[in-house]
Amino acid sequence: MAGEFETRMPGVDVALRTISGQLARSRFGHAAAAGAIREALASFRLTTQCGAPLPDAAHVADVALEILVRADLPSQKAVFNLTGTILHTNLGRAILPEAAIQAVVNAMRSATTLEYDPASGKRGERDDHVAGLVRELTGAEAVCMVNNAAAAVLLVLNTLSRGKEAVVSRGELIEIGGSFRLPDIMARAGAKLREVGTTNRTHAADFEDALCARTGVVMKVHTSNYLVQGFTATVSGADLARIARGAGVPYVDDLGSGTLVDLSRYGLKRERTVQDALGEGADLVLFSGDKLLGGPQAGFIVGRKDLVRACARNPLKRTLRLDKMRLAATEATLKLYRNPDMLAQTLPTLRYFTRSQADIHEQAGRLMLPLAEALGDGFAVSITPLMSQIGSGALPLETLASAGLSCASVPGGKGRGGGKAVEVLSTRLRALPRPVIGRIAQDRLLLDLRCLDDEAAFIEQLRGFTR
Ligand SMILES: *Cc1c(COP(=O)(O)O)cnc(C)c1O
Repeated sequence: MAGEFETRMPGVDVALRTISGQLARSRFGHAAAAGAIREALASFRLTTQCGAPLPDAAHVADVALEILVRADLPSQKAVFNLTGTILHTNLGRAILPEAAIQAVVNAMRSATTLEYDPASGKRGERDDHVAGLVRELTGAEAVCMVNNAAAAVLLVLNTLSRGKEAVVSRGELIEIGGSFRLPDIMARAGAKLREVGTTNRTHAADFEDALCARTGVVMKVHTSNYLVQGFTATVSGADLARIARGAGVPYVDDLGSGTLVDLSRYGLKRERTVQDALGEGADLVLFSGDKLLGGPQAGFIVGRKDLVRACARNPLKRTLRLDKMRLAATEATLKLYRNPDMLAQTLPTLRYFTRSQADIHEQAGRLMLPLAEALGDGFAVSITPLMSQIGSGALPLETLASAGLSCASVPGGKGRGGGKAVEVLSTRLRALPRPVIGRIAQDRLLLDLRCLDDEAAFIEQLRGFTR
C-alpha cells in the first residue's frame, strides 16, 4: 500500500490542504491556487521522469505558492538607474519630489475639488489648480494643461492651424525618440507643413516670404536632441514674434524641455526659459512637465489668453486632459519653484544635475567593496570618473562630470572572455528584484552613481546576488 503511494504524484486536493496550499488559496483564490499546483505538478512530472524523487504534497504546494507570488510582482518595477542618463525616457524620466508624491497620495485617497469650487458650490476648471502658479512663475496670461508636450503641439496646431499652413524652419523639423516626428503630428493635427529655409540656414526673409492668407501659425521648435553646427543661421524668437505679429498670425514656441529657472545659477549651461520665450513675444509657449521641470508627465500651453481659451475649448482637449493625480503632482512641483534657493535640495532632478563629482566619487568608494564581494573573483571592480548626461533631449551636448564603478572581467576568471562575461553580468544585475541598469563600454560594465539615492537598498540587494 505504502509503496503504491510513493509511485504517485500528490493530488491537487491534497496539495491544496497543506499550509502553503491554504495560503495560496486565501491570497490568490481557489482557481489560481489549483492552477499553480497543476503547473508545479507538470514540471515535477518532467523531473521525476529523469529520475528525480517524487515530491510530497507540501513541496508541490510550496512551489505553486512561489509561482503565484512571482506572477503577482508588479510589471513596472522600481530600478536603480545607473545609466548616467538622468532623465531617461525609457526609465520614466523625472523622479518626483516628495511633496508631489504626498499630493498624489492625497488626491488618490479621496474625492477632491478637481472641477469644483467649494466657495460657490459651482463647477470649477481643473487646470485652475495650477494656472495661478504658472502665471505667477512665468508671467504668462493663461495656461492650459494636457497629457504631454507632444499633445500640446497637437492641440495647438489643431486649434490654430487646421486646414492652414504651419510655417517652420527646415532645420527644426525634429524627430524625438518613440515616433514623435513633428511633420507627422502636424499632419494629424490637420495643419499643412510649410517648410522654409534650408537645413543649416534659415533667415527672417524666408519666413516673411512664406506668410500669406493661408498661414495658420509661425512655429519655432527647440532642436532638442541635436545641434546644427558650422555655417548656420536661425531666426531669433524676437524676430519671429515681430514677423508673425506683422502678418497677424500667432507665433508658437515649442521649447520641449521647458525650464522656469536660469540653470546657470546652479552651475549648469543656461537654457532658454519659458519666461525668455514669452519675453521675446511668443504668443504661446509649449513645454514638458517631466523633463527639466522635474514633475510628472504633462504638457503646458501657456501664453495669450484668447489663444489658450481656444485650445481649452477645442473638443480634443477632453481627450488630452490631465487627471487629478497629475494635476496634484504638478501643483506641488511648481510650488517648489517659489523658493529657487532650496530647489537643488527639494527637486530630485535638479539635485541629480548638481551633485558634485567629489560626492559621487566618495559614494563609489563606499560601494566598491560590497560590489566586488558580491561579484566574486571573476570581476575586478574599480572606481572610475564618468560623464553623465541630462537626457530626454534636454541640453543634448551638456555632460556632467560624474563617477561610478567599473566592472571588468578578470582574465582566467570564470567568465568566458571579457565582453561575454560582462554581458552576462549585466543581464544578471538586470534580473535582480530591483534591476540594476548600467551601461557597457569597452568591455566594462559602468555603473554611474549620480542617481543612486538608496545606497542601503543597493547594498542589501547585493547580498542576494549569488555568483
Ligand atoms: C521632448 C519634446 C517634445 C515632446 O515632449 P513630451 O512631453 O515627451 O511629449 C516636444 N517638442 C520638443 C521640442 C521636445 O524636446
